[in-house]
Amino acid sequence: MAYQPTIGLEVHVELNTKTKMFCGCKNDPNEHRPNINICPTCTAQPGSLPVINKEAVRKVIKTGLALNCQIPEYSKFDRKNYFYPDLPKGYQISQLYQPFCREGFLIISGKKIRIREVHLEEDTGSLVHPENAEYSLVDFNRAGIPLMELATEPDMHSAEEARQFAEELHLIMHYLNVSDADMEKGEMRVEVNISLSKNPPAGGGKLGTKVEIKNLNSFRAVEKGIEYETERQTKILNSGKKVVQETRGWNDIKGETFSQREKEEAHDYKYFPEPDLPPLHHSSAIVDEIRAEIPELPQQRRKRFYKEYQLDEKNIEIFVYNKDLGEYFEKVISELPPNLPKENLLQLIKLTSNYIITDLQGLLKSAPLDRAREARYLTGLITPENFAEFITLIFEEKISSKIAKMVLSEMFKTGADPSHIIEEKDLSQITDESEIEKIIKEVISKNQKVVEDYKKGKTNAFQYLIGQVMAATRGKVNPGMTSKLLTKLLKDV
Ligand SMILES: [Zn+2]
Repeated sequence: MAYQPTIGLEVHVELNTKTKMFCGCKNDPNEHRPNINICPTCTAQPGSLPVINKEAVRKVIKTGLALNCQIPEYSKFDRKNYFYPDLPKGYQISQLYQPFCREGFLIISGKKIRIREVHLEEDTGSLVHPENAEYSLVDFNRAGIPLMELATEPDMHSAEEARQFAEELHLIMHYLNVSDADMEKGEMRVEVNISLSKNPPAGGGKLGTKVEIKNLNSFRAVEKGIEYETERQTKILNSGKKVVQETRGWNDIKGETFSQREKEEAHDYKYFPEPDLPPLHHSSAIVDEIRAEIPELPQQRRKRFYKEYQLDEKNIEIFVYNKDLGEYFEKVISELPPNLPKENLLQLIKLTSNYIITDLQGLLKSAPLDRAREARYLTGLITPENFAEFITLIFEEKISSKIAKMVLSEMFKTGADPSHIIEEKDLSQITDESEIEKIIKEVISKNQKVVEDYKKGKTNAFQYLIGQVMAATRGKVNPGMTSKLLTKLLKDV
């Protein structure tokens, strides 16, 4: 029998604040020397007290607003008590009873996925297990880094839907600049709750036992983990056995989940209100101020790019996913010649989009650059003005597509403007018909055998002759005009 999965996600995101959640230590996920960013507070020395990081609170509220959440007027922190060597206080400051954000939603492929809450807590330190050693080491650099936790309602019913939700959330974090959310570095961690049922609950079916999968550190792992677990639980149910409520890990190499521990409940943690921190009051004025800081979000950008530029869905997605590239595209568009007829403008926009996505991205990929340098290349080295001029030259057929590639690669190397490169390297298109005819005649006289083949009806002979003209002019002739003149001249041979 087939069962349908019902899925909810819990996502932890490390915020990119300057300092930690409750002390002034630097929040630097790239610090690899152990125990550098620590102080009495984040290592829980006697007498130290926490102070709330305002920037972290604002980032969580901003995220909540972007996810259509309610922001309750009051919220507070709670203590979650448990022992682990990477948790020096013996408890984690978190939020259980009055989180910052509640009851939001995100639309994924036209479907509403409800968000139960978004709250703020502190991250733990990390354990290091040296090879062949009989001990473990603890690094407190991560202890006290602001950690945002988001929980959805169980509104998803396929692995693909869950992956799409995680991807969209990741994109929103980038747009809001609340986190770098690098999953490989553990800055965004996804946990999946999954239970199977014969019918979806809305159809009257009863939800099965809930299993949690932890340590999913890529979008692919989210999708594969759910697929694996659906299959595993289906086999158990079909053999008449019961699914155990537990937490399972994910082995990315084997592509399997494995049992970790039986699930603990909230009451096991003996939560109680954090006595060292005051409740927080969020006035509507503050919430409005934060709301005003929210930039255009991915979904809004998709709609606007479609409406303003009439690009196809695939290209829009590239510009939305790669935010810097999308912004560069828009800067180039704003530098195109003014007062063009609408039809010409749309053609130029399409050319711009194609050259940025195919050729410029190709050049960027071939150069070993990290994200930041890539962004600098885009706005600094090839200025939007120069790129717009380059596109206009192609549109006006002043350069062929072959020459265009050479010009762009030179622009990418030196940052020079295209007309300068064309002049210096003598690349401008030959438009004088008599000059082209002269070159064609030379090619014909040098290739008598091919001309005979052409007369016998071999079509690739014609292409060969075009290629010879291109080679003789280093691609500086217009292919359309060359083809027309060659056909004409071959009739006279
Ligand atoms: Zn500290």
